[in-house]
Amino acid sequence: MQRRSFMQNLGAFAAATALGSQTGKAQQRVAAAEQKAERVTRGMKVPIIKNVEVVAVQPGNVRLIVVKIVTDQDGLYGYGCATFTQRADLVVAAVDKYLRPFLTGKPVDRIEDTWQAMYNSSYWRNGPVLNNAISGVDQALWDIKGRQAGMPVYELLGGKCREAADLYTGVNGGNPQQIADNIRKMQAAGYRHFRFNLGGEGTSVAGGARPAYVLHDAPLFDRYGYVKGIVKTFEGLRKELGDDVELMTDVHEKITPSQALQLCRDTEKFRPFFIEDPLSPEDNAYYRIIRQQCSTPIAMGELFNNPHEWTQVISERLIDYIRVHVSQAGGLTPCRKIAILGEMYGVRTAWHGPADVSPVGHCANLTLSLVAYNFGIQEMAGFSQATREIFSGIPEVKNGYGYVNEAPGWGVEVDRKAAAKYPFRNDNNERGRLNGGWGELRLADGTVIKQ
Ligand code: MG
Repeated sequence: MQRRSFMQNLGAFAAATALGSQTGKAQQRVAAAEQKAERVTRGMKVPIIKNVEVVAVQPGNVRLIVVKIVTDQDGLYGYGCATFTQRADLVVAAVDKYLRPFLTGKPVDRIEDTWQAMYNSSYWRNGPVLNNAISGVDQALWDIKGRQAGMPVYELLGGKCREAADLYTGVNGGNPQQIADNIRKMQAAGYRHFRFNLGGEGTSVAGGARPAYVLHDAPLFDRYGYVKGIVKTFEGLRKELGDDVELMTDVHEKITPSQALQLCRDTEKFRPFFIEDPLSPEDNAYYRIIRQQCSTPIAMGELFNNPHEWTQVISERLIDYIRVHVSQAGGLTPCRKIAILGEMYGVRTAWHGPADVSPVGHCANLTLSLVAYNFGIQEMAGFSQATREIFSGIPEVKNGYGYVNEAPGWGVEVDRKAAAKYPFRNDNNERGRLNGGWGELRLADGTVIKQ
């Protein structure tokens, strides 16, 4: 490529600026970066980021965000999950307003360097909005690297150390009998691990007519009734299903630390696979006390933002399973490090994978599960027909195992025409009124609680 002089570049830049065109500026940035990036890898010019796009869709009840990085090389692009469904519009703005101008013109090959640069570019960092936006870019860069290499991302990370990832599936029901019946149905489909939730998250477990001592009209939560219900459900499920089935539950931090301790002790005899989030991140120090008093396995961490939140609970061996939401933590790059830290201390992975993770994000989760020796279990929700209309190459489930496809990168493609049919919407319910956000949950006296 013929080099242009600094003055020639400056003249071209000034011409673009005079037009007042953002596109012109971006093109100049790409042109300038192309000159700098005459660096080659295996004889090929390093691709440059030409554009950073956001695909925002709502194929079901949750809003999904995927970032697409387009390079200056024909047909070379990548996708990354940036889904923070409760504040989705803010992630879109973070990518559009900040990461696109920051990244346009940068080379795609230096993922760690780009991650650190993005992370530091806001000065104040480690918030869920910015971390999700960074994750979208990070995963898209891994996708591009895989497409360049002609390999799935798991090959770039050293290859598989298992054939597929054992999955758990969520089961609900109003009582142990109903939950057991639903587990039997999923056992017939091949699953061996089940997580139950009582009464549905965010709803009252008090049941029946609202007593006179309830001092508000918001959704009601009865902490003691909930703890009692969990223990009775474990007891009932063991009676119904026996010992040869793996059972777990998610507390969603709704109880007090002393109730969490009691719950972990009382469920120990029913051999839970894990109890998830019995404490909120603010109460991490209580895990030491739980550890000293029982052997119930603990899963924790979907609310952690800062990587430093992990160091203590892992290095002190206070938890058994890492429950991080990969996009929330900033993408594949930081989560690979968290997984390796866990391996050093015998803590296993259980990446957060409910419906508010895009199919691209599920591929990243599964990839981490396939390459980490300290894999524990994988959560993966099913995919709706509308989701399948938008995304192709999504992970498959067979006999309770999750499989990624073997195509280069994540192997996922997004049909933008189909995506346009499912924009964000505001349904005629509380979540629609809150623009996709969650409502509140209160004790009888009106105290708002974590959920
Ligand atoms: Mg959870």
